[in-house]
Amino acid sequence: MKILVINSGSSSIKFQLVNVENEKLIAKGLIERVGFKDSIFTYQFPPNLKIKKGCSIDDYKSGIHLIIETLVNVKDGVIKNMNEIKAVGHRVVHGGEDFASSVLITDEVIKVVEKNIELAPLHNPPNLLGIKAAKEELPDVPMVGVFDTSFHQTIPEKAFIYPIPYEYYKNKRIRRFGFHGTSHQYVSIKAAEFLKRSLEELKIITLHLGNGCSISAVNKGKSVDTSLGYGTMCGMPMGTRAGDIDPNIILYMMEKEKLKTNEIKQIIYKKSGMLGLSGISSDMREVEDEALKGNERANLSIDIFSYYAKKFIGAYAAVMGGVDIIVFTAGIGENSPIVRKKICENMEFLGIKIDENKNVVKGELKNISSIDAKVSVLVVPTNEELMIAKETYKIVSVIK
Ligand code: AMP
Repeated sequence: MKILVINSGSSSIKFQLVNVENEKLIAKGLIERVGFKDSIFTYQFPPNLKIKKGCSIDDYKSGIHLIIETLVNVKDGVIKNMNEIKAVGHRVVHGGEDFASSVLITDEVIKVVEKNIELAPLHNPPNLLGIKAAKEELPDVPMVGVFDTSFHQTIPEKAFIYPIPYEYYKNKRIRRFGFHGTSHQYVSIKAAEFLKRSLEELKIITLHLGNGCSISAVNKGKSVDTSLGYGTMCGMPMGTRAGDIDPNIILYMMEKEKLKTNEIKQIIYKKSGMLGLSGISSDMREVEDEALKGNERANLSIDIFSYYAKKFIGAYAAVMGGVDIIVFTAGIGENSPIVRKKICENMEFLGIKIDENKNVVKGELKNISSIDAKVSVLVVPTNEELMIAKETYKIVSVIK
């Protein structure tokens, strides 16, 4: 079955056409600068066709129209007609407490996603525009919403309620939601499959370390804690986001430096993390390059990043009463032997020990633990689009 996966962001639409039975990517692409006169359309299908052209895409409807037109185009298309698209899977960032799993998109579901705009004001509106545009272009095709938050809906109250007056949770829905759920779910399933073990018997810690970072404790296939929370400015230091900091620092900025909300947001979301620490870049590759040349601040930045990750591993091993598998994924997790080594050093007491020769791997599914280690440390490339396609398939295959 061919499933179109759509991820519509604030000014972009990413798409993939996936054959869900053999898990093969058929074609993929991206429209950037939706709503502008100088939009950019990139389209590729394996192994080597890649088209990049300028165009003018006024809105999400014209964007989705262009995507479908390209997929069926006689010259560069990959399908004969639109009827080959049997379902559409949409990434939706925030499902709030309303969606603990993926759902078939109905008018009622759209209303609930609209209600959750208050929780994700930057993300849910463009996700909705993508859904509505796709429904207009493909009115008879079933559509499924796959939420970044739903995998974490199994987190117990003691881990998702913050120790502030309870009314904030009861009346305002302020609680830990967690994000990157599709990625944490995908890599934990993949890790169990790779080791030929049942998810039901495993305690897994998944480290999604990219430009955005989050770490999750996955017990028996279910998320039981995660480092992102009510929003996306907590837990790990990230490319430009600070992660966990003492809220007193924010009060200091407000009271002593008289900074306004927007200025503080700018500092903690855009000028902190690896960029703020290193003063070099938000990109771990550039920070690593400088560290290798002997730049002490760059080295310290990587130490701080790795130290936070190590603390989460310790905490989540405690939460689950042990750990069987550690999974590294996303840009840094998949590609940085330096970071993986720093995170895993001196963790033998937990049964974690990596093999330096195996750890050189980049972007490949591999077990990098020493043969005498109790815990399997794996590098697992994430594939959120494939997970969305699989979730979509699961839902549409049972519709009459
Ligand atoms: P993502 O958000 O998952 O696309 O990850 C993006 C981040 O991955 C970039 O900002 C880089 O810091 C990091 N990254 C990608 N490739 C490498 C690499 N070879 N070594 C270290 N970091 C990398």
